[in-house]
Amino acid sequence: MENKSGWYGLDENKIKAISDFAEKYRKFLSEVKTEREAVEFFENNAKFYGFEEYVPSYKGKRFYIKKNNKAIAFVNISGKVEEGFRIIAAHIDSPRLDLKPYPLVEDKDTETILFKTHYYGGIKKYQWVSRPLALRGVVVKKDGTAIKINIGDSENDPVFTIPDLLPHLARKVQGEKKLLEGFEGEDMQIIISHMPDKNDEKNPLKTFILNLLKEKYNIDENDLYSSDIEVVPAGQAKDVGMDKSMIGGYGQDDRICAFTSFFGMMDSNKKTNEIVILLDREEVGSDGNTGAQSNFIEYVVTKALDASGINYTYSLYLDILHRSKVISADVNAVVNPLFKGVHDMLNAAKAGHGVIVTKYTGSGGKYSTSEARAELVAEIISVFDKHSIKYQFGLLGKVDEGGGGTVAKYFAKYGMEVIDIGPGLMSMHSPFEIVSKFDLYSAYEAYRAFLEG
Ligand code: MN
Ligand code: MN
Repeated sequence: MENKSGWYGLDENKIKAISDFAEKYRKFLSEVKTEREAVEFFENNAKFYGFEEYVPSYKGKRFYIKKNNKAIAFVNISGKVEEGFRIIAAHIDSPRLDLKPYPLVEDKDTETILFKTHYYGGIKKYQWVSRPLALRGVVVKKDGTAIKINIGDSENDPVFTIPDLLPHLARKVQGEKKLLEGFEGEDMQIIISHMPDKNDEKNPLKTFILNLLKEKYNIDENDLYSSDIEVVPAGQAKDVGMDKSMIGGYGQDDRICAFTSFFGMMDSNKKTNEIVILLDREEVGSDGNTGAQSNFIEYVVTKALDASGINYTYSLYLDILHRSKVISADVNAVVNPLFKGVHDMLNAAKAGHGVIVTKYTGSGGKYSTSEARAELVAEIISVFDKHSIKYQFGLLGKVDEGGGGTVAKYFAKYGMEVIDIGPGLMSMHSPFEIVSKFDLYSAYEAYRAFLEG
């Protein structure tokens, strides 16, 4: 394969297509920062493309199914269902901090109100301190009313922050620790307020903030127990570099694959049976009823059979699963010029070199991964060649350096043929992940091509 980035030799039209698509994506990244917001975004867009929400009486070919507003699947049936589906699975949860069930702490010594958090997924905690943070999520009152929370991203909104220690006093407390231990789980508390209520001498600080929550959002302290509130980086996704060739922003793992596979499906010629399934909880092992280890995919396939009005047997159902092909659409890492040592450079992916085909993920001797077999790899790359899509092979780091997994293995257990394919990021899992716009577009093209065959 030619070892040059994909930016070489692009014509004006292609460059324009890439930057138009990237701009649409940049806005999406700026707006959508939680799995619930992603479900809402994709649902609204799917309706625009003529997809309907599945109901038990539904008979038709283009529909979507939501699970708890945290996962969503889109189905297009253009062939015989018996032949199986081309499935793309991505995840819409990202590493972050979640508020604890009892979040509110009043620190009497400093007269400060803080919210306690529990981190979600693999974060380097020190990256989340001393930076503007936003609160996003939902509070559900006992009567079922849901109150949306979105503070920190509108122009006049305040932001929140975890205060770091000044270097002058950090010599022992942080300086003698390992980098990744400089901040510990219980230290991850965000500053909420420090203004007192003038009329309450006993708990002036707490009363002030509770009154404010009541007044502004109609939330009582007890309502916080029944909430899903996420602490995410505040601010917009931005073009990165003088040449604006990259995009930096939060949550690209794996909303970049959700975005590119969703629009790949919407823009495909719709000649096959397609499913794009956007899952939750991948960053914490895919457990839970909205994660890849739940039976959501089985539920979706079964409803696709119902929608087609065919009588089926368990045997036929298994045939359909076994005849299906899956792209596990998740990001891989591209080489960071500052940390080349963690990669086997011969098998490492590079920014701008196109979507990455990852034959296997896992770690320590290919543990905890399904592996795409040679026949499937050959089939996929011949489709990419047919559509003139630039791709590269990549592995996540050196053997024994570390590793990571994707949802691939949870689809493989159904007998489906699965391969990991996605764009590469730099600074993955940080509050500001970076992607080359060329790779973003190449992922979109690759997913569309896979669905079209
Ligand atoms: Mn991921
Ligand atoms: Mn991840």
